Amino acid sequence: MSQINLTFPDGSVKQFDSGVTVKDVADSISISLGKKAVAGKFNDVAVDLRQELNQDGVIEIATKDSAEGINVLWQTAALILNKVLVDKYPEMNFGEAHVDEHGFYLDTEKPGQTQVAETDFDDLTAAMNQIVLANDSIELTSISQQEALKNAGDDPYQKQLVAELAQDGQVAVYRLGDFVSLAFAPVLSSTGKVKIFKLLSVAGAYWKGASSNPMLQRIYGTAFYKQKDLDAELARRQEAHERDHRVIGNQLDIFFVDPKVGAGLPYWMPNGATIRRTLERYIIDKELAAGYEHVYTPVLANVDLYKQSGHWDHYREDMFPPMDMGDGEFLELRPMNCPSHVQVYNHHKRSYRELPLRLAELGMMHRYEKSGALTGLQRVREMTLNDGHTFVAPDQIEDEFKKILDLMIDVYSDFDIHDYRFRLSYRDPENTEKYFDNDEMWNKSQKMLKAAMDDMGLDYYEAEGEAAFYGPKLDVQTKTALGGEETLSTIQLDFLLPERFDLKYVGADGEDHRPVMIHRGVISTMERFTAYLIEMYKGAFPTWLAPKQVEMIPVKNELHMEYAKQLQSRLLAHHIRIDIDDRNEKMGYKIRQAQVNKIPYTLVLGDHEVADQTVTVRKYGQKDTETMPFDDFVTLLNHDIETYSRK
Ligand code: ATP
Repeated sequence: MSQINLTFPDGSVKQFDSGVTVKDVADSISISLGKKAVAGKFNDVAVDLRQELNQDGVIEIATKDSAEGINVLWQTAALILNKVLVDKYPEMNFGEAHVDEHGFYLDTEKPGQTQVAETDFDDLTAAMNQIVLANDSIELTSISQQEALKNAGDDPYQKQLVAELAQDGQVAVYRLGDFVSLAFAPVLSSTGKVKIFKLLSVAGAYWKGASSNPMLQRIYGTAFYKQKDLDAELARRQEAHERDHRVIGNQLDIFFVDPKVGAGLPYWMPNGATIRRTLERYIIDKELAAGYEHVYTPVLANVDLYKQSGHWDHYREDMFPPMDMGDGEFLELRPMNCPSHVQVYNHHKRSYRELPLRLAELGMMHRYEKSGALTGLQRVREMTLNDGHTFVAPDQIEDEFKKILDLMIDVYSDFDIHDYRFRLSYRDPENTEKYFDNDEMWNKSQKMLKAAMDDMGLDYYEAEGEAAFYGPKLDVQTKTALGGEETLSTIQLDFLLPERFDLKYVGADGEDHRPVMIHRGVISTMERFTAYLIEMYKGAFPTWLAPKQVEMIPVKNELHMEYAKQLQSRLLAHHIRIDIDDRNEKMGYKIRQAQVNKIPYTLVLGDHEVADQTVTVRKYGQKDTETMPFDDFVTLLNHDIETYSRK
């Protein structure tokens, strides 16, 4: 029998007979490892314990507490769910089972109108439990492609999967009783270990993720080896749900997306529009104070502009197709604002005295993001970016970069944002043809950014392959409620656009010189930033941003409304966003409603308040109330707003 060499994580190499299984290898190391092993990793691919190894390679044994160890449990749970569904609905079609960070999912399609719903979960769970209790064995075997196709019957997805999995006319499958499943990923050898599992939710998902394909019903679930891990996961999900900006956005009537109108095209309701207008005014004022000049430029431009800028070559798949105007002109919805600001720069002859020239705009742009990636306000197709482009002489880059970073850090502190990481994004050294071709520029500017960060004493990590096609960048990475990471702010160096558009300034020497462009977004798009803030504040916006800042509740409309109206007009004169709750409801109910709507201040006005010209104030989230003269309340409120206070 031929021999193979297996390399272990510690670098040691051992010889085994060809055809040895992963389990045999684990047993050969130690009896206890053999017992603890649940899967393996061979040349970086997860493998079943029963997998025979026939070539040299790197082997790792996976136990329960490794990523492969939990994945194999999740795949086994998905297999059990698959069997239960086949038993219950023999006509059902199936896509693949997959795992993600938190559990497994299985794509299904039930011919006819009704799909599997969360109301079916109790029945499905009971049937799955029976299989778990029986501790049935799961056999790994191989069948002919023909037989696999016969098993797939009329299921178009399974047929396609058979073709994808087949090797030399054979297909690896798992058998669980009379159920046969394609073996894409390793599973455990029996069902008994899947004791602690939970079916979680259902959602639509396109077959293979392409919106041109049929929509399948995706069933999500999870499983753990220990009850406490399931409990922790369920608590995490609950917390994520409570923070999810789509959930809060709906509860607080901030925005909505109507797929009938278009995916990724949000509508801002009055509450959302107020938050957005406040953000827009805030950032414009900050930027004016930092030396920026704001402009307005069109969202449509001749497609030639984007050919000249390079977006057409490098960014086209994210752009909406051009509009054929029928007279030879093609208009394009802009995916970025930079070419527009280049036009502004080039509209005049520029002198070195004008540099750094800082142009900014709340620029609307359109990107054809993949439908599967669209998420509430976080990732949309129409967005307005807090965009800015600074045109600098080469020796001003580092100083300007630091100034932008200072502005960012200042802004973050106004919003009380602390949970973020700086990412220096470089080009992919293995794939340089995707980028602007100038090695010297890349090396120099990547080094410069790093040196500037070090100089400022800021922590960062480096990511190859995340640069823009025109230059390296610094990204500010933040967490979303769903556990993902998104870029909020960004500073990007660009040596390419100045070349392409032949940008110049007259230097002190009277000669023409080439400026460098720095692209930057401080508070990102209004969409993504609002999503971020909703999740960070859990909908309880600080007073300066809250859609409604004060809710007044007259104890009895007929007795106290006049006083309420007086106070209202005085608060309106201070530009306070105020409402009077004059509904014929009990006072306790109205107070609770104001809390549910997360309104920062609730004022209760009764006989005493009218007599003493006071207000009884309840701050959001606090139980106690305080009665104070109305003028003191105005001072408190204004202080709160001016200092961006969150307390
Ligand atoms: P991402 O990788 O996050 O899609 P990007 O690197 O393509 O972003 P830039 O061209 O740098 O994006 O855009 C500037 C900023 O606009 C990003 O840092 C991000 O905060 C925001 N942004 C980008 N795409 C979207 C989108 N589809 N929806 C909402 N905001 C977005």
